Amino acid sequence: MKKLNQFYIDGEFVTPHGTETLDLINPVTGKKMADVTLGDEVDVQRAVDAANRALKIFSQTTKEERIAYLLKMHEVLKGRKKDLMDIMMYEYGCPLYFTDLLIQGAIDDFKNMADLLKDYDFEPRVHNSIVRLQPVGVVGVIIPWNSSNGFIATKVSAAIAAGCTVVIKASELSAQQTKVMMECFHEAGFPKGVINFVNGTGAVVGAEMTRNPGINKITFTGSTNVGKIIAKGAVDTMKRVTLELGGKAPNIILDDADFATAIPQAVLACYINSGQACVAATRLLVPKHRLEEVDQIIKDFEKDLKVGDPTAQDTVVGPMVSHTQWERVQEYIRIGIEDDKATLLIGGLGKPEGLENGNFVRPTIFTNVNNKMRIAQEEIFGPVLSVIGYKDDEDAIAIANDTPYGLGAYITGKDKDRIYRIATQIDSGRVCINGEFHDDLAPFGGFKQSGYGREFGSYGLDAYLEAKAIINKDLY
Ligand code: NAD
Repeated sequence: MKKLNQFYIDGEFVTPHGTETLDLINPVTGKKMADVTLGDEVDVQRAVDAANRALKIFSQTTKEERIAYLLKMHEVLKGRKKDLMDIMMYEYGCPLYFTDLLIQGAIDDFKNMADLLKDYDFEPRVHNSIVRLQPVGVVGVIIPWNSSNGFIATKVSAAIAAGCTVVIKASELSAQQTKVMMECFHEAGFPKGVINFVNGTGAVVGAEMTRNPGINKITFTGSTNVGKIIAKGAVDTMKRVTLELGGKAPNIILDDADFATAIPQAVLACYINSGQACVAATRLLVPKHRLEEVDQIIKDFEKDLKVGDPTAQDTVVGPMVSHTQWERVQEYIRIGIEDDKATLLIGGLGKPEGLENGNFVRPTIFTNVNNKMRIAQEEIFGPVLSVIGYKDDEDAIAIANDTPYGLGAYITGKDKDRIYRIATQIDSGRVCINGEFHDDLAPFGGFKQSGYGREFGSYGLDAYLEAKAIINKDLY
């Protein structure tokens, strides 16, 4: 039985002050695989102190020095890619094809930031001033379990590029993945205290990070509810806050699209990361008069939606991360059937045959859904898709925007001008066209209740900098 009883603070693997432990349960077998020691306020304070000591020096490094650290980390991660993938599939149950994508993205984040830094101007001139862009300070990183090391890579690569130091609290459910990441940072040879990790719950470690005056910024990815708690708590010390929150992404299929490929692709866009993705395309918007045709294509595609062993090449949907998450998804399927009275096209309640031990869900699709229904409005975070009919382009836009969220959106069709016109009217941080999924240099973040702030590329880097205007037209 693995024991995860070390944090990484001030360049060393240390014994936590906290003593409580949490069982980690294998999502495929339902058996205990490890236990993790949970930190407390003392552990956070130690990490914050180390990060503040390191900040004095790291904030003064040249961009060439920081480029060297980023590239070293990139090399280390490349060398550990298999370990990072194996532990993500084992601990979290992410299907192989998607694990590969996410971990490669994490590796690339460090190279992308290094490349960006080369031409980044930290002292632009504006009118009579030099605007000095300086690191925001110590950054608290709080993240969920659904792409744990991916989030660490995106956030920490930008923080390092800016000259910040970090205290990282991953989800307590990701402690085994976090351990591999701690080892990578250690191997990359960052100066003591630049990178610090504390495991623990949100209620204890997350809450302490939010109120601790030694942290200058919180970058958070997680649910909208917790994001609001953090934003409220962070204001007392006027922390800068970036919030990457939930989503309910619309996927508009236009009538000139090739439905035979677009509809299966749309189903897979909902089932990315087994449906446990903030950008999952969970609302499929199709022309109303072609609903029957869409339903038939989906039924024919059902046999290809393999659920099961995350390490298998052809698995589309793995288990939910935890039994709690499984129960939450079941409850939404029940709501769809009993409360919303939506038409169940495939799937339903219970576990798929032969997979009774793990947290497996039957890939479920409701059709002819009304966008006012709860299954169309609330984030489910599982393999549950709602197919919604629309009358014309304006109706599709109205339905797409009729949600509290605004993170991801998708459009498929042939007419570029029409697609662009629709894309400009969707209230969402990203609109992906014709099967595109991600651009790791373009800004990523939410409109409305999907949060605020942006990640990736120069917009992501800006979020770790404070602008100071040095005003004197004769000085330089
Ligand atoms: P969560 O909000 O419950 O937890 C996220 C993190 O916050 C965890 O580390 C948790 O321990 C911590 N936390 C919980 N309570 C806290 C508190 N009071 N103070 C400080 N920290 C606290 O989310 P989850 O269930 O782990 O993940 C799923 C959610 O994450 C979904 O809503 C999903 O949409 C969202 N998400 C968003 C993005 C994005 O980029 N926008 C990406 C992935 C996931």
